Amino acid sequence: MGTTKVKVSSKEFLNGEFDISPTLKRFNQKNDVFSRSLWDDSIDPKKFYASYDIANYAPKKSKGFDHWDFAFRNASWHITDFVGERNFSKNGKVEGFTDYYATYTPSSPMKVELESEEETTNRVKLAAKMFGAGMVGICKIDERWVYSDNFSRKTQDSKKLDLPEGMKHAIMLIIPMDFELSKTYPAALSGAATGIGYTDGLTCANTLAQFITNLGYNAIASLNDTALNIPMAIEAGLGEYGRHGLLITPKYGPNIRIAKVFTDLPLKDDVPIKFGVKEFCTVCKRCAKSCPVKAIPFDKPQSKPPNFSSHTGITKWTINAEKCFKFWVGMNTDCAICIRVCPYNKDFSKWWHRIGIRFANSPFRKMVLSIDDIWRFGERVATAKWWKKGIKRLNN
Ligand code: SF4
Ligand code: SF4
Repeated sequence: MGTTKVKVSSKEFLNGEFDISPTLKRFNQKNDVFSRSLWDDSIDPKKFYASYDIANYAPKKSKGFDHWDFAFRNASWHITDFVGERNFSKNGKVEGFTDYYATYTPSSPMKVELESEEETTNRVKLAAKMFGAGMVGICKIDERWVYSDNFSRKTQDSKKLDLPEGMKHAIMLIIPMDFELSKTYPAALSGAATGIGYTDGLTCANTLAQFITNLGYNAIASLNDTALNIPMAIEAGLGEYGRHGLLITPKYGPNIRIAKVFTDLPLKDDVPIKFGVKEFCTVCKRCAKSCPVKAIPFDKPQSKPPNFSSHTGITKWTINAEKCFKFWVGMNTDCAICIRVCPYNKDFSKWWHRIGIRFANSPFRKMVLSIDDIWRFGERVATAKWWKKGIKRLNN
């Protein structure tokens, strides 16, 4: 799809692209806005978390936020919550969000015979696709992206992160979210796109980790816990960084979740790709204009973030996580207007969108943006229409 592979190592590429300070400190998970909402009085989650438990939350009457919508969204999170919190009362872990997943089935005591790194990599990538990944890439574990500490939602303590020794690679998994559902953001119903994405990510990462342990190697499945997904996915050649602070992939745009597997299996690393996102974002700014709380920057990438919920020392577009989360709290559901309006959020199985993404990476990018505006891509779809259209598809 018109992507080019960079010619330097992943680390060199990131250092140059984001002017990363040599003194960059690893991020402490305690400072992400979700953790802060549990210990920092200035980030009040109000009924945000309670709304994920329908037994203790009364849905609203408004469209997109009614009983059907919350029931659907909460059901989409059910497996992720159930699996991730199965040991919460015992050990305080929230696997997939503050801690990586534990393995329950013993690994093979024998290591499989490996033909070559290339063949192993191809087999692992094939398995990842079979287990539900839309895209898969591999990078070395760059310690800078591993959290310094993880946070316990139970005790609200931080502790040094204990990624087992010997883990050399991360297999980065792109989990596409439902395109039609994402067009309905923001609504409680749309939150199901996120919930389904995490459930698919959980299945894919845990199944792949089990496959690798069955081969006699170590593997750990992870969602948003343990390490920062976006820089690792860039290193693994899966996409570029957008103004809205999200990964933009050439296959699904930003409409994705990311899961990963850490492993000591010898694998061949991928390299970052370019397809013109930075240049396009420089002229576009649609996410910044559309964000209801103006949490997305309009100006150039900066090295100083708006608050301590983001890294310092990396020159990039950084959203104001405090403003963003406050908006989520107001709605009692997540928002992804910035995903919905992004011109890269397209169904790239259609040839005309594949041509569009090529032109977006050319001097015609402003023209592509104007066409996108004229066709009103990115407009919100009413939740009632989503239900209706889905049922029609079902019956045809
Ligand atoms: S998720 Fe919503 S509130 Fe947050 S940055 Fe995106 S558009 Fe703004
Ligand atoms: S909406 Fe435009 S500026 Fe924002 S991330 Fe997408 S392409 Fe970049």
